[in-house]
Amino acid sequence: MIESLFARIDSKREELVSFTQELVRIPTINPPGEDYARCAEFLGQRLAKSGFSILYERARDTPGDSDRYPRKNVIARFEGKHSGPCVHFNGHLDVVVPGKGWTVDPFEGLVRDGKIYGRGTCDMKGGLSASVIAMEAILEEDINFPGAIEISGTVDEETGGYGGVAFLAEKGFFSKPRVDHVIIPEPLNVDRVCLGHRGAWWAEVETFGRIAHGSMPFLGDSAIRHMSAFLELLEQKLFPALDQKQTRMPVVPEGARRSTLNLQAVHGGEDESFSGMPSPLVPDSCRLIMDRRFLIEEDIMEVKAEVTDLLAELADSRPNFRYQIRDIMEFLPTMTDANAPVVLAVSASIREVLGKTAEHVISPGTYDQKHIARIGHLHDCIAYGPGILDLAHQPDEYIVIDDMVAAAKVMAASTLKLLGVTVES
Ligand SMILES: [Zn+2]
Repeated sequence: MIESLFARIDSKREELVSFTQELVRIPTINPPGEDYARCAEFLGQRLAKSGFSILYERARDTPGDSDRYPRKNVIARFEGKHSGPCVHFNGHLDVVVPGKGWTVDPFEGLVRDGKIYGRGTCDMKGGLSASVIAMEAILEEDINFPGAIEISGTVDEETGGYGGVAFLAEKGFFSKPRVDHVIIPEPLNVDRVCLGHRGAWWAEVETFGRIAHGSMPFLGDSAIRHMSAFLELLEQKLFPALDQKQTRMPVVPEGARRSTLNLQAVHGGEDESFSGMPSPLVPDSCRLIMDRRFLIEEDIMEVKAEVTDLLAELADSRPNFRYQIRDIMEFLPTMTDANAPVVLAVSASIREVLGKTAEHVISPGTYDQKHIARIGHLHDCIAYGPGILDLAHQPDEYIVIDDMVAAAKVMAASTLKLLGVTVES
């Protein structure tokens, strides 16, 4: 039975390529959330033809939702012949802006040398397509299975997932008894199982000063100098301390196997859009956006205290140091047990299909698994997909077609294992 299933997936190679191309040609750029409805409906119509029942859920009143940019999600479900567990594949429909440096059209889906090029091929329309082809192959083989298969296409993963997986999780779409096992085909490489991700805390620090004529700065108080004093403390104290924090999480790449901090943006004084001749002014405000990534061994309160303690230290020691700190968002680290059913099923299938031992990894950045764990309370969840991690968000992003075919086989074989269907080879 498994040979016949794998042969069917091989025979669907062209279909897999063209479906990926069609998804890539819908430029679901986020922000602002372009063409979400068209993409969700395209996926929904395809799966309806294959016999799935389709639900659309618009996430009204979530960030960015409007009639111009509706946050439209699709959930497709196929019921087996009798009751049993449910295996769910979740892919995000949104892509990041193409940016500069492309040598091909980012929304054409060009095929060359066994690869499909385009924004979102790797992250993650190629992975989503592989899951669709895998599930359709199971249905076409007429395999009798218990339980249910679900595929969802969700929005806004790149901007926090509030209108996508978080919204659906609040409504029970990612909880038992509806769903038991979740696979997210994010690009973590075809032979790896991603158990989870590090935590993230985003915050904005603002320092305050007093405006004055720039020729007499001593009559004012520079918010930028106050910010630079804070930046100096980060360099002296926080960055070296973070470098020391190693984790037992198997994060890839290895450089991310510790705590990190990115200073994402600094704005102060003259407005960002300023052009022309400056007028002489002492800046009265300076804002810093911080992106702190933390480990399963760290506590979010301690992570925040490391920063607020330094600010308090400056407020004590530096004359007129006034500041404000604002939380932007926070996500806790998550790590599925290496012996969880979905990890065992996908690892065994990787061995069957690729003949190698699956590497268990952790993603340096977060993805929608955080919402499934925290809101859905579902912990049998991983990321597994054919894309190459390093290509995500890059110019000339591509996906290797052979990897997509192999991943589709792994997904199909894993699904049968999780549904309890005996697969003999
Ligand atoms: Zn992604």
